[in-house]
Amino acid sequence: MSTVLGIDLGGSAIKWTVSRADAEFAPVETRPTPSSPEEIVEAIRGIVDAAREPHAGAGTDPADGDSAAEAPRALCLGTPGLVDDQGHIRGAAANLPGWGNRPVGEILSEALDIPVTVQNDTTLALFAEYRAGSARDARNVVGVFIGTGIGGGLCLDGEVYLGHRNLAGEIGHVTVVPNGAPCGCGRRGCLERYAAAVGLRRVCRELAPAYSASERRPESPLAARVKADPGTLTTGEILEAEDEGDPLASAVIGQAGEMMARALGSVINTLAPELIVFGGGVMEGGPALMEATRLRLPPYVLADALSGVSFTTAPLGPGAGAIGAALYAREAWER
Ligand SMILES: [Zn+2]
Repeated sequence: MSTVLGIDLGGSAIKWTVSRADAEFAPVETRPTPSSPEEIVEAIRGIVDAAREPHAGAGTDPADGDSAAEAPRALCLGTPGLVDDQGHIRGAAANLPGWGNRPVGEILSEALDIPVTVQNDTTLALFAEYRAGSARDARNVVGVFIGTGIGGGLCLDGEVYLGHRNLAGEIGHVTVVPNGAPCGCGRRGCLERYAAAVGLRRVCRELAPAYSASERRPESPLAARVKADPGTLTTGEILEAEDEGDPLASAVIGQAGEMMARALGSVINTLAPELIVFGGGVMEGGPALMEATRLRLPPYVLADALSGVSFTTAPLGPGAGAIGAALYAREAWER
């Protein structure tokens, strides 16, 4: 069985795991992401070297006589941003300054002398759930990962679905409000401007004045918090306040759920998935947004399609990207 390496290259941390057998992974390890492309290549070289050590990866207990670990045969690198079918990271790659629109897979392959595939991190996180996590019993799965932005992933009929030029799954850029809030993609009214972290905080600040004290009700504690210092509001505070029944927080999450339902409803009608996997930093704060979305889906989805869909949060958590990368490297290598 060949050894493969999965690396999730994030803006602040590099996470990685080694796989020496189909469903076995070494514990996901983490190190800080260096700031320059040259240092990142060196950090990845260090990981490739470490993966050759006998203790890295499952099935290499010296007691079983397999003390000389096999060098990794393939590497898959997960990264934020759009990765096209040539392994170029489209546009500005915040985590790889200077590497935007360059063939990162080729650069690494040459520097490290190992086949390298580059893939979008959200796609890989969903792939991990599909092969080894919460979605392993499902055939058609949509992933929605809500953090700073919203990433999507599709696994259909047993395979990752990448679409023409690898550009499928961008649910965060589905238009939910015509001529709405400007988005980083250059258009307006995209889902992630309403339901991801920055959008939740913006909507919270916009709605806060309506939740000040009135004759009919006391001021919402979250509204008071926003009024005192709007600039330091965090997404975690909104989610905590929602948990405590704060009316402003409920309105913010409710509006985000409405926007999610508009986008996801069309996706469900188009693809008829049996499972939607929710993940990402905002979901780690609790299932409130998933529940708000579920509640608001019926007006947007054909009843038959909706009745067949289940919803879950991603239990592999922050290590899923590295695990998905290792699984993807294995399948790419064996293909
Ligand atoms: Zn957009």
